[in-house]
Amino acid sequence: MTGSIQTLPTEVVNLIAAGEVIDSLAAVVRELVENALDAGATRIAVAVWFDLWRVRVADNGTGMDLTDLQKAASAHSTSKIKSRDDLYKITSLGFRGEALHSIAALAELEICSRQTGFEGWRCTYNTQGEAEETEAVAIAPGTVVTVSNLFGKWRLRRQGLPSRSQQQRIIQATIQNIALCHPSVTWQVQQSDRSWFTISPGKTTQQIIPQLLKQVRVHDLQQLTLDVPTPEEGSAGEIREFTYNSTPKTRHGASLHLVLGLPDRCHRRRPDWVKVATNGRLVRSPELEQTILTAMAKTLPRDRYPICFIHLQICPSQIDWNRHPAKAEIYLHSLSYWQEQISQAIEQALRIGAENFDTASQSHRVGKLLTASAKKGVYHLDESPKQERNPSDIGLIELKAVAQVRNMYILAEHDTGMWLIEQHIAHERVLYEQLCDRWQLVPLEPPVILNYLTPVQLEQLQRIGLEIEPFGDQLWAVRNAPALLHQRDDCADALLELSLGGDLQNAQVATACRSAIRNGTPLTLEQMQTLLNQWKMTRHPRTCPHGRPIYLPLEESALARFFRRHWVIGKSHGI
Ligand code: ADP
Ligand code: MG
Repeated sequence: MTGSIQTLPTEVVNLIAAGEVIDSLAAVVRELVENALDAGATRIAVAVWFDLWRVRVADNGTGMDLTDLQKAASAHSTSKIKSRDDLYKITSLGFRGEALHSIAALAELEICSRQTGFEGWRCTYNTQGEAEETEAVAIAPGTVVTVSNLFGKWRLRRQGLPSRSQQQRIIQATIQNIALCHPSVTWQVQQSDRSWFTISPGKTTQQIIPQLLKQVRVHDLQQLTLDVPTPEEGSAGEIREFTYNSTPKTRHGASLHLVLGLPDRCHRRRPDWVKVATNGRLVRSPELEQTILTAMAKTLPRDRYPICFIHLQICPSQIDWNRHPAKAEIYLHSLSYWQEQISQAIEQALRIGAENFDTASQSHRVGKLLTASAKKGVYHLDESPKQERNPSDIGLIELKAVAQVRNMYILAEHDTGMWLIEQHIAHERVLYEQLCDRWQLVPLEPPVILNYLTPVQLEQLQRIGLEIEPFGDQLWAVRNAPALLHQRDDCADALLELSLGGDLQNAQVATACRSAIRNGTPLTLEQMQTLLNQWKMTRHPRTCPHGRPIYLPLEESALARFFRRHWVIGKSHGI
């Protein structure tokens, strides 16, 4: 922490959103924990006693000297900003200098603090936040804040609070959400003197999520960190990276960290794990959350939601934290720019994830081949997005269909190896992109009759553009259908499927899937070649609209290594 605590000038105070911040025990936990993080703590111990309306947060951060300790709970007193200009350069979680002051007014406040190499002090405060008793104490470097008897003199405030079990859940979620944004911190949480939960530190949020969601394992998640330019020319100020526990780095630009549950491995019933954080704090941003949902929609089963955590590290001048007293909402400049960055990052992570899954699920023999060659660096299991072959590159490869295997795979050769392409999903990708480019509805003559449609189903069919009208008791006539479906024998089934949910995009995926060549269908070489030519020219030839990989590449160089060709040649030459 730089500098010591000062009272903010009135002109700055007037610019800061005023509002009640301390409305519950959870709010106390949040404010104290944020102070600990601002003080550079790497270990934070939280203890809650519901019966006593008490919270204690102990940290191993920088601590305060005696002068600061005595000022810590005065009104508008902070060490984090000094002037009006600093409001545009906020790199700490706190900056209003109000939390401890409000707490002192609503509860009994005691703080013990010690800076490394100095004596430790204990201080209590009156309801104005002025230091009352001060004495020397022997404690480890860091700070221990104890808040007791919250709302003791404001009994009405206690009545409006949720039930104890709900408060427990809120406190747990508060700590977990902060932990997601600060993965290198160790958390120990107690309730009524008994261990409640702990969170071990990780290199990134990828190691934290499985500790919070027991059914998720580290390798069910794909992570990606991208450096992104700060939007608007010339506005790229300096930003301090929120790596609290290492020396803060200063650099230009912004970064986007994404941790994504691979859609074929984990998803949820509710959108409760679609989380966005900016500069060290989880925020509610309906717009960015919607961007995530849209980007993932085509990869998940119907009515399931992704696990997705996005952390934007943005130049502080791009964020206005003053929208919400608890800073749970923000104004983000250039919102659509960030939406675009998020969509692209998710698409990239899905591609990498699909490829990793590809290799993980191969038979042992193929798996060995790929790992062996990956190690030698011949065949890249593209871990890093930079090595990722640009999808359009696939379009440049001359692929020649040479055989169909098990009526399911097309074996294709090219200059430097061979690929296995799954016929159904390759075709699905082709049809899906065609449908996106041209969603054509053609008249159905005679109409298809459907029965027992619920109002929701009816609405859904109308939403995707179908003409539909009552045809009798519980009967409806559908008068048009997507061009791909209208001549199929199972047109009625397909229409029913479309009625079951989703937007136009969902309908396009479902239609593509239903219309694509089934596995088990024999194909001629010519048919296979046509499919290959169409598929490699698609915009995203790597995965199907559900995110599954479409092809397995076996490069000649990797095969040569697998068959130890160099070794045989060596032996036969007596080397
Ligand atoms: P703010 O965080 O907005 O500055 P607070 O009322 O939360 O306001 O805290 C006031 C000041 O007390 C902080 O600016 C900081 O200097 C000091 N402080 C509070 N908690 C801690 C802590 N855990 N470790 C070190 N200093 C602290
Ligand atoms: Mg604070």
